[in-house]
Amino acid sequence: MTRPDDSSDVIVVGAGLVGSALAYGLARQGLRVTMLDEGDIAWRAWRANFGLVWVQGKGQGLVDYARWSLGSARLWPKLHAMLREETGIDVQLRQGGGFHLCLSEQELVERGERLQCLQEQLGQADYPFEILDPQSARAALPGLGPDVPGASFSPMDGHVNPLKLLYALRVAGQRSGVRLFAHASVQRIDHTHGIYTADSGERHWQAPRIVITAGLSTQALAGSLGLSVPVRPVKGEVLITERVTPFLRSPTNYVRQTDEGTVQIGESREEAGFDDRVNTAVCSRIAERALRCFPQLRHARLVRIWAALRIMTPDGFPIYQQSESCPGAYALVCHSGVTLAAQHALTLAPWIAGGDEPEVIAPFSPHRFSSDILAAPHAH
Ligand SMILES: Cc1cc2nc3c(=O)[nH]c(=O)nc-3n(C[C@H](O)[C@H](O)[C@H](O)COP(=O)(O)OP(=O)(O)OC[C@H]3O[C@@H](n4cnc5c(N)ncnc54)[C@H](O)[C@@H]3O)c2cc1C
Repeated sequence: MTRPDDSSDVIVVGAGLVGSALAYGLARQGLRVTMLDEGDIAWRAWRANFGLVWVQGKGQGLVDYARWSLGSARLWPKLHAMLREETGIDVQLRQGGGFHLCLSEQELVERGERLQCLQEQLGQADYPFEILDPQSARAALPGLGPDVPGASFSPMDGHVNPLKLLYALRVAGQRSGVRLFAHASVQRIDHTHGIYTADSGERHWQAPRIVITAGLSTQALAGSLGLSVPVRPVKGEVLITERVTPFLRSPTNYVRQTDEGTVQIGESREEAGFDDRVNTAVCSRIAERALRCFPQLRHARLVRIWAALRIMTPDGFPIYQQSESCPGAYALVCHSGVTLAAQHALTLAPWIAGGDEPEVIAPFSPHRFSSDILAAPHAH
């Protein structure tokens, strides 16, 4: 029996940060959107992330990625205002700049060279940064440890509360008409006479368009639609302290204080396959590094530790693709779903809703993996 809510204009498979931002954007374009999510059994990168809206340093090897991230950072205030107006939820966007802490002289030199190289390609005005010596870094970040040799600072960067972000995107989407099915694990997708059918085994949904945003499960679902989405898991671990007196207004690459006063400490990158268990040896290295950066944290008690899997393409840059053999079928993956949420909601949604493909996303086709760009340095 066909139920009234089984057909729509577009199906979004996966209600993580990418799918929720896109579904919200599609509904704002006037489309009837069905969003299907597997539920708690899935690998979900969104539950773990660090909350950075980050531009500096990204795009080495593909400057279009720096442009894309920068464009998203510029769109973020608009997304923030829209979400607050439509849902009353403040996702706590703070875009006063961010610091990348360097833990050796060598790293500081290399950091300067990397940012300089990106600035030469993007222009000084569009890509501002400073390299801070130990004194300037400590003046900007009171509490910075005595043996941190310096930092880079960029006014382009910021942070948000990532859980509030996901919640706000879903609430805003639902208020604009998105129908979310939260325990719908899509097992297969068929395409007949221009209609896609997403089948969970117990129920199916139909639409003339479908977008797969299922993170690490994207390839398994998208392969039958002529989409190629090579991704692998890269584990990251995060430590959270109890609430402490505010001491850190701006985010750094390793430590940030949330709007609620807790301190979030990262980061790690581990090739551990699909093992998303916490590794205590890695957590202790993360904690030691944080104490080196901000010694006062030795008084803070940890309240939570978690690990989760990033969604990584071979070169680390996003994949945005429309199928050539199945028009109307798309796959989207990236490893910076917070930073890029504004682009996903405000730039990709109008394209998928039927607009022209934005020129700026041409470099993110998976066709690049057939060229020598695979030899480029990995994105960060
Ligand atoms: C430790 C860590 C720190 C991070 N820090 C940052 C950061 O500071 N800034 C930033 O921008 N990004 C950060 N990220 C990355 C960010 O979290 C991801 O880019 C983002 O969560 C990816 O969202 P996604 O929607 O593509 O995938 P996911 O979050 O994995 O969501 C995929 C969704 O698809 C659903 N799904 C899977 N299979 C199916 C199926 N068969 N049927 C239906 N639904 C399905 C799942 O239930 C899930 O909800 C971090 C990630 C990690 C792990």
